[in-house]
Amino acid sequence: MDASVETSQNSSQDAIYVDVLIVGAGISGIDAAYHLQNNCPEKSFTLLENQESFGGTWLTHKYPGIRSDSDLFTFGYKWKPWIGPPIATADEILRYLDESLEENDLRRHIRFNHEVLSASWSGEDKQWGLMVRRKDTEETIEFKCNFLWMCQGYYRHSEGYMPDFPGMDDFKGEVIHPQTWREDLDYKNKKVIVVGSGATAATLIPAMADDCAHITMLQRSPTYFTAAPNRNDMADTLRELDVPDEWIHEIARRKTLHDQKTITERSFTDSETLKKELIIGAKQYLGKDFDVEKHFTPSYRPWRQRLAFIPDGDLFNSIKSGKASVVTDQIDHFTEKGILLKSGEELEADIIISATGFNLSVLGDIEFAIDGKPLNFADSWAHRGILFSGIPNMAWVFGYLRTSWTMRSDLISEFVCRLLNHMDEKDVSVVTPELREEDKDMPELPFIDPENFNAGYLTRSMHKMPKQGDKQPWVFSQDYYSEKDQIPATDLEDGTLKYR
Ligand SMILES: Cc1cc2nc3c(=O)[nH]c(=O)nc-3n(C[C@H](O)[C@H](O)[C@H](O)COP(=O)(O)OP(=O)(O)OC[C@H]3O[C@@H](n4cnc5c(N)ncnc54)[C@H](O)[C@@H]3O)c2cc1C
Repeated sequence: MDASVETSQNSSQDAIYVDVLIVGAGISGIDAAYHLQNNCPEKSFTLLENQESFGGTWLTHKYPGIRSDSDLFTFGYKWKPWIGPPIATADEILRYLDESLEENDLRRHIRFNHEVLSASWSGEDKQWGLMVRRKDTEETIEFKCNFLWMCQGYYRHSEGYMPDFPGMDDFKGEVIHPQTWREDLDYKNKKVIVVGSGATAATLIPAMADDCAHITMLQRSPTYFTAAPNRNDMADTLRELDVPDEWIHEIARRKTLHDQKTITERSFTDSETLKKELIIGAKQYLGKDFDVEKHFTPSYRPWRQRLAFIPDGDLFNSIKSGKASVVTDQIDHFTEKGILLKSGEELEADIIISATGFNLSVLGDIEFAIDGKPLNFADSWAHRGILFSGIPNMAWVFGYLRTSWTMRSDLISEFVCRLLNHMDEKDVSVVTPELREEDKDMPELPFIDPENFNAGYLTRSMHKMPKQGDKQPWVFSQDYYSEKDQIPATDLEDGTLKYR
């Protein structure tokens, strides 16, 4: 048992108390733990993790080629230098997280195989009570804490999003979702169709193409891809000059963020030229005879969904070599032999991979209640997209979708620690965001503006998410470049945070 927990547990039947409970030991949970340990050294804390190990997304996903789609200088933490090529495999990310735990002695705070089932706030006790299932022993145990830090990510880990394709049961081969990959799946010399053209499809196809008889990317509509060598020349040069790793990390982060900012701004102000450049980039890899207009020219504005990066152009190279192909069409129904398309063409397959994304999970599928009343998260207003109106002592790490997720996790970690220290200085133990009089006429806007970012998993579930307003601190812009100044400067006494 973790030492910090042991001291607070009187007997095996008693609830286990810590000051802060962190739900999830993925990249955000480890970030939260690091900051708590350093910025709030007096607080006791524990991480509750459903899986048997740490890493979250990078542990869950085991499909061939699994890798990041954003660079690790920004997807890595501010506080631990990344040393390696910008795009990293899941194994490399897990190693980085393992080192982060080791170097900071954080592993002892994690309880693996602990699934949080419910969380209820008691205003009288000023505590959260959590019912937690131990998956290794099937026991249900109770934890209590003063502050709940939700680092459970944003999608359901147990299964991915599988559309109900007509005729799926007729198909004689195997249908598999990348999120629940069967590691012994034998695809050698098999005909494979990958349904979807997001980052997952772009990763799977080059990783499998050499072994399959043929692999086809079947997409309803095209995605923007950008291809470049998987290296950061500036970081490599600085390393040759013996510049310290910490400096290289910071400089590479700033350069990457600067470049991404330029692209994001251009996607709003100069989207047609940017679109042309992306398409020319694809043509350069695929050659003039390839129908780039049909297969790689999306109708939406660049950056409205995450721009998928292909390291070393590997997806394009697989297509160019003839081992992989792209079909842009709609599924009419599955047949015994494969998929019949709306155009009348039938694609044959032994294996169909449904790279159709995931299911948004609001608050980790945990049943929440406040003073006995079930919580409907959609009724609350997001306070900077971190805290929520009417919900005491709870923060959720929802990272960036366009910029690397971790850039926001770092900002939130600093903010939560500042808030906890502020509460200690005020000698209060409860903080609840509440609308001020002047906030009460705000329009109810979706948590993520679909004009800004419109991935399918978000549009399918936006009605379950909290609202945002049109004035601070009730705005969640998903814009790192403004939030990097706004979040640290948040006035903790602006009347929207009620303390007691
Ligand atoms: C395949 C894939 C690739 C991605 N690549 C990138 C990328 O390159 N760049 C980027 O910025 N983002 C990427 N993302 C988004 C990615 O999810 C986040 O960037 C990041 O990994 C999220 O970290 P997290 O710790 O917040 O959540 P997660 O990684 O989702 O981890 C959450 C953890 O909480 C645990 N948990 C959940 N519910 C409970 C519960 N009830 N009780 C106990 N534990 C619970 C889960 O088991 C999990 O371990 C990718 C997502 C996917 C699916």
